Amino acid sequence: MNACLFTDCYASKRLVGKMSSIVVAKDHQIECFSKGDTKWTRPFYFVQGADLQMGMIQSYLEKNPIPGWEKEIELGERAVAIVNEMRPKPKFFVMCGDLCHAFPDEEPEIRQKQEADFKKIFEKLDPEIPFISLSGNHDVGNQPTTETIESYKSSFGDDYFSFWCGGVRFLVLNTQYFEDASEVPELAEKHEQWLNEELEFAKQAGSRVIVFQHIPWFLSDPDEEANYFSIEPSIRNVWLEKLKNSGVVHVFAGHLHLNAGGSYHGMPVTTTTALGAQLGDDVPGLRIVKVMEKEIEQSFYSLDNLPTTIDL
Ligand SMILES: [Zn+2]
Repeated sequence: MNACLFTDCYASKRLVGKMSSIVVAKDHQIECFSKGDTKWTRPFYFVQGADLQMGMIQSYLEKNPIPGWEKEIELGERAVAIVNEMRPKPKFFVMCGDLCHAFPDEEPEIRQKQEADFKKIFEKLDPEIPFISLSGNHDVGNQPTTETIESYKSSFGDDYFSFWCGGVRFLVLNTQYFEDASEVPELAEKHEQWLNEELEFAKQAGSRVIVFQHIPWFLSDPDEEANYFSIEPSIRNVWLEKLKNSGVVHVFAGHLHLNAGGSYHGMPVTTTTALGAQLGDDVPGLRIVKVMEKEIEQSFYSLDNLPTTIDL
């Protein structure tokens, strides 16, 4: 599968095969955007979603004995069709984890089929709109192993990476290392070292930073107690402070299957509900995030209400 087909690498990648929007990170970077895109010049926007989680509706919600994932295919295809209509075009479309429901170590064959169908959906995205995905607990396992991480990487590329776009530094994390690194302590340490270096780099560059991750640091209150849907407080507190001090202006996450959010000393942490199965009163949809000169403006829309003309 090809990686990106935009700006710098557009010409070379286009020659080697079928055009695809699906971005594959390598060496903890993606090539879709120019590395020199370090200065903000004009407003832009991107689309953020989470948890299409192919297979969860019939398996978890409907308890179907032979669960398929037709409903997620339909939701994913609707989302792609709408994003393809958006004008101006978004800079990219990011999915914050739990791409598929089947755990790679428990149901590898089903997982493979779900991943193949997931890719078919996002290959229909306009090739000028890079599709960026990251790993959730369902993608690398609740207790990741070297094998599950490798399996994810062979399918979607590196599990954490960074990039410049429109003068903003974007960091894409693998929060499963914060959740349970008991089987992969060395990989977790590398991730931590990488994140420390990236934050130091961002601080030196003095740029705005936006972070994408699966499990949110907290749901609504940075002081909330430990719970299944957010990161354990002792880890949370350390990283929130580092992020805040390194120019992070917004964090976007998923995992909750509900919309939620709060702020850590003025740094918002926004959780977007699933594009697939809902666990509350929200409905499948996507978030539109505008990067303006001073502010980040963001709104969630159900698929029924997503606009296709975006005012910047
Ligand atoms: Zn999750």
